[in-house]
Amino acid sequence: MKTITLCIGNSDDKLTQKEWATFIKEIENLLGCGTNDNVQFSGFSSPDAPWQNACYVFGLEEIEIDYFKDRMRIILRSYDQDSAAIAIGDVEFVKSEDPTKAEAKRKEYVAHLRVAAKRLSEEGMACNCDLDKWQPEPTTGHSHVCRIHKAAVTKCSSLR
Ligand SMILES: [Zn+2]
Repeated sequence: MKTITLCIGNSDDKLTQKEWATFIKEIENLLGCGTNDNVQFSGFSSPDAPWQNACYVFGLEEIEIDYFKDRMRIILRSYDQDSAAIAIGDVEFVKSEDPTKAEAKRKEYVAHLRVAAKRLSEEGMACNCDLDKWQPEPTTGHSHVCRIHKAAVTKCSSLR
């Protein structure tokens, strides 16, 4: 399942208010607004804004995306719209965490980063911190552009 964010607009005032309303109805029919649990959000620009936008967030199976785009193209054409903006995203759940445990986990991560950076340096990896432009990171003591910092972050990524 992908999460789609769809933005449509009438900021160029190509559509009359009545046409804009019908355009929105067609989009909402396509998405199944009101009948489809997958539509998680819909919102509109403020009524006193000088532009008209609408935004929808909804889930689609990957296999449905091309069909959705084809239907969108037809609706856009019939309302003289050049394009609509969609973002296709992967859902990631950020789980709640006890703050004490989260802090302990962060400290452990930082400690591992420090050790990893020190070890990489001892094993002969050359530092390229470029400290004229970048500050050292408090985690590794190397700037974030440095190959040692990057390698340490990669090594410890499983601890995040
Ligand atoms: Zn460095």
